[in-house]
Amino acid sequence: MIVQNLKLDGFRNYSGLNVDFHPGINVVVGENAQGKTNLIEAIRYFSDCRSHRARTDRELISFERDSAKMEMLLESRNRDFKLEAELRKGVRRSLKSNGVKLKSAVELAGILNTVLFCPEDLSLIKAGASQRRRFLDDAISQLRPRYAEAVGEYRRLQEQKTRILKDYLDDPVVADTLDTYSIRMCQLGAHIIHYRAYYVEKLRQFAPKIHRDCSGGREELGLTYRTVKTVTDPLAPALVIYSQLLEHMEGHKRAEWESRSCLSGPHKDDIDVLINGVSARAFGSQGQTRTAALALKLAEREISRDDREEYPVLLLDDVLSELDPRRQEFVLNRIDRGQVFITCCEEEKQGSLKAGRVLRVENGQVL
Ligand code: ATP
Ligand code: MG
Repeated sequence: MIVQNLKLDGFRNYSGLNVDFHPGINVVVGENAQGKTNLIEAIRYFSDCRSHRARTDRELISFERDSAKMEMLLESRNRDFKLEAELRKGVRRSLKSNGVKLKSAVELAGILNTVLFCPEDLSLIKAGASQRRRFLDDAISQLRPRYAEAVGEYRRLQEQKTRILKDYLDDPVVADTLDTYSIRMCQLGAHIIHYRAYYVEKLRQFAPKIHRDCSGGREELGLTYRTVKTVTDPLAPALVIYSQLLEHMEGHKRAEWESRSCLSGPHKDDIDVLINGVSARAFGSQGQTRTAALALKLAEREISRDDREEYPVLLLDDVLSELDPRRQEFVLNRIDRGQVFITCCEEEKQGSLKAGRVLRVENGQVL
């Protein structure tokens, strides 16, 4: 997948931007607050119409504007695509692919796959479980649009069920609907668990080798998917998982009423990360856990390639400066194929970067 051109008008601090990219490495340099991350965010947006840091489209529109226009030319699956998005305050965004209006972002799936690596990802292993779930959800969603739909619906139901538990338990009519929510959440949850477990299997195929290479062969990475206790085999067919989830949900019904929160379901799942057999979260050093985080991200890139038969676009935002020279070298050596965007500050050394294009960003302009 190669992003050839990007046009932005009214997106964050960009107006009238029209920029061509290199099919290999693109180094985006500039002082702080000039628009480097905004550019990465705009590219990433076309993979699933979500921003990695904004909660709503509205935040993406320039302060002084009412709408933003975005357009991308790219090559994917040996075809040329023109993707367009128009974001408007208070109105649903409109999306087009090769001039044809899309009903939803789901239809964009598989056209542009990206793997984003930003400084927060370096704490993926030490962070709370929600960040690791998000890593899984984002990665799987890009490859399986139906997964994205299931996760979206699950989250909505979970929010609604929580609201009922918190505010409407005393209303017998509303409280009666709780079971309906629970059953649907178990149906969706079964699919979510199945997909996640399968993805963790794929991670196990790639990440330990990457981790081993990066640690000079001294460390062994172990990954296990942790889910609801009654689920005996998360790789089992969804129907089997469904009945085990129901059993857990039934068993926790009382506790959910008492605590007034959703206690049962895959919204509490996690990946156990072990380094040399012990919990990386509890015992890993900063260097070890960063290496493991790197291995997971680079494994995501390999899994995407395995699935799609072409490399996704790799977006490295501000991450090289956070890595020591050995890991910097390692990351750069891994990316001899596929398109890459790397942001860094002017003064950071770019000595180890291979041929490509340097794009200088200044106050919302690419020079
Ligand atoms: P750093 O090196 O510090 O990471 P950066 O070049 O990555 O900097 P960006 O995060 O891309 O900087 O942000 C650049 C500027 O965009 C900021 O000054 C910010 O105020 C501005 N900005 C963010 N959102 C909007 C918006 N909706 N409208 C206008 N400007 C915005
Ligand atoms: Mg930035």
